Amino acid sequence: MAWFREYYRHSMAARGISTTLSTSRYGFAKRRHDYLLHGHVLTKTRHGIPITIQKPAAPGKSYPISPNDAKRVLDKMPDAAVRGIKEVNFRDPGIPATKQDKAWAQYVRTEKRINIFSQPYKGGKFIEAEPENRDPSAAEEHMKEYVIPHEVGHHRAAKKDPNLPIIVEEAKADAFAAKQNPEDPITVENHINNRQLMFGDKGTI
Ligand SMILES: [Zn+2]
Repeated sequence: MAWFREYYRHSMAARGISTTLSTSRYGFAKRRHDYLLHGHVLTKTRHGIPITIQKPAAPGKSYPISPNDAKRVLDKMPDAAVRGIKEVNFRDPGIPATKQDKAWAQYVRTEKRINIFSQPYKGGKFIEAEPENRDPSAAEEHMKEYVIPHEVGHHRAAKKDPNLPIIVEEAKADAFAAKQNPEDPITVENHINNRQLMFGDKGTI
């Protein structure tokens, strides 16, 4: 696996991003816990959540945020909201295309894991993103300000009530990302309405 750590460091360095790798003293002995994860541990949040990478972004793809920047976003979040997240995993969304293939990230409820997806990237742009998020700096800002807080909002909501209808969980996640109170029914109702206006009755893509 060393080769792909090096590959990853080089590819991030090429984008001007330095990575801090958390390897053991000898570089190969992984802790037992790490085998349960979906990728190699690059760093951990201050709460101890491992930030991992399944593989470097494929040719023609790039991650919209670095693992260290994702860590910085999570480090600022309240302990109560992030407690219980098992892993934040940088990965390819996978083939065949699923409804997740246009997503920046995803919360996997059954595994309490946040996935951050590599994105098609060409000529210095995230070519399949919403027009306002194609620029790498805009995409990174979008990840920091909305996407990652939204996924943490999913975790928080599912932790409080594992049986929420998906649209309610989405609305609570949006409220959390907007730094509003996800427990306030009027706030949640507003986000449900916004989602139905944007995405139709189901309120999600
Ligand atoms: Zn969501």
